[in-house]
Amino acid sequence: MIPYRPEPLTDFRSADAAAAFDTALAAVERQLGVETPLVIGGRRIMTERRLRSINPSARDETVGLSAQADAALAEQALLAANRAYADWSRRTPQFRADLLLKAAALLRRRKHEFSAWLLLEAGKSRGEADADTAEAIDFLEYYARQALQLELRAAAELVALPGENNRLSYLPLGVGVIIAPWNFPLAILVGMSMAAVVAGNTVVVKPASATPIIAAKWQELLEEAGLPDGVVQLLPGSGSEIGDYLVTHPLTRFVSFTGSRDVGVHIAGLAAQLTPGQKWLKRYVAEMGGKDGIVVNADADLELAAAGIVASAFGYSGQKCSACSRAIVHEAVYDELLERCTALTAKLTVGDVRDPHVYTGPVIDESSQRKIAGYLALAPQEGRVVAGGQLLEGTGFFVQPTLVADVAPDARLMQEEIFGPVLAFAKARDWTEALRIANDTDYGLTGSVYTRSRAAVEAAIREFHVGNLYINRKCTGAVVGAHPFGGFNMSGTDSKAGGPDYLQLFTQLKLVSELL
Ligand code: NAD
Repeated sequence: MIPYRPEPLTDFRSADAAAAFDTALAAVERQLGVETPLVIGGRRIMTERRLRSINPSARDETVGLSAQADAALAEQALLAANRAYADWSRRTPQFRADLLLKAAALLRRRKHEFSAWLLLEAGKSRGEADADTAEAIDFLEYYARQALQLELRAAAELVALPGENNRLSYLPLGVGVIIAPWNFPLAILVGMSMAAVVAGNTVVVKPASATPIIAAKWQELLEEAGLPDGVVQLLPGSGSEIGDYLVTHPLTRFVSFTGSRDVGVHIAGLAAQLTPGQKWLKRYVAEMGGKDGIVVNADADLELAAAGIVASAFGYSGQKCSACSRAIVHEAVYDELLERCTALTAKLTVGDVRDPHVYTGPVIDESSQRKIAGYLALAPQEGRVVAGGQLLEGTGFFVQPTLVADVAPDARLMQEEIFGPVLAFAKARDWTEALRIANDTDYGLTGSVYTRSRAAVEAAIREFHVGNLYINRKCTGAVVGAHPFGGFNMSGTDSKAGGPDYLQLFTQLKLVSELL
């Protein structure tokens, strides 16, 4: 098999690429209002109740109507996954990996179509949508190869003893519940679910309520790739209504969650409780929020730092777990860097992402916009608003990219995950204080430092307590296989998605020792 290589991103400056995307977007727009089913044991089920998915750039536009599961359907989904497990868990890793490789090939062929759905349902600009689709392809290609590697690794891990034949195998766990967020509704949903599946588990996938249509499109593609019935159930529905049911069910062997801290902590509590009939302690993999900081030293390249900060803070309207929401800057360069960032922020275009010139699209929905408005109201009390500061009138849920200067390290703007285009600037006396402020958060997902000093780089590597630390580059944009991704502390269980140990989280090791 050819070695894994990350999927190249589309260069939309090419007229051909832009035209191909426009054609795909027009074709997807003709499908707006599509009705999508849930899928249990290969059966498509349409429910009377529907989840209405709306275009965040144009709130009156219905992207689609999705079936909506209740507890009875959740029960059926777990039973179907359990039935399929007996066969799927006994398939060879090669058989399972081939499904992922086929799905990757299909997705690559239909890349712009999927990116167009992401643009319309999740409010991503074409560049952001293209990166989401490319990452989904990467997860498929990478985990397919990792599944084959696991076998080889197990064979190589044991010390030989004379007179014995010892064998170690990575076995799947059982039925898993995959709970995905809306902000990478393709890449993260595909990555979480297919890692578990390629390792031999069967799953019930609950997409986020805001993005059920892209999940349904992915499920169709998986079926086209040859997915056997019952290996993946697609179960859209409200987290509070079916989430707890799925998590506490005695058949559930593991839960893989990506989402907010509050929900992640809630699930941790539920997953730890035993339910009658349950024969195991549930495995829990959780990737949660972030309050990611970029730290800039007096000797940094300020042009580079400003570009990195603004891209990390306002790409996809700050709605990435890795988004920079705090800039912590040495006092010697604070004013100059603030000025540069303010100028770059003022140039950002906000609006409907169908316009290829728009950089900052909408936020996901009205409740998110309302929550961000609360932080905008707080901003003049906690600092000095130097860019943005307002919601924008329009068809969608638009928020001005906002920069707030002179914020104290313990202010709410510096402590709470806002998940919107709001960036706080704080001043530090020296590098030691800057790193201390950077660590002064409950989270620990990503962080960047900008400095020319080797000693400062070394200090950051030693002291900056985050799962993904970047030097002289932005703190978003992890690449599968190159930057395994996951955070410390309240950012989660540090599962390192897209890394060499990720699949092991969905396996258990069996040792067989035969006396010869
Ligand atoms: P969320 O926590 O609101 O929802 C995540 C998922 O959990 C959704 O599918 C939701 O329906 C479901 N859910 C809600 N209540 C539930 C319950 N009681 N039981 C079971 N499931 C329930 O998060 P979100 O708004 O979709 O996503 C944004 C959050 O995700 C941010 O905090 C972001 O930082 C985080 N995130 C983290 C990573 C990472 O890798 N660390 C990646 C992407 C997003």
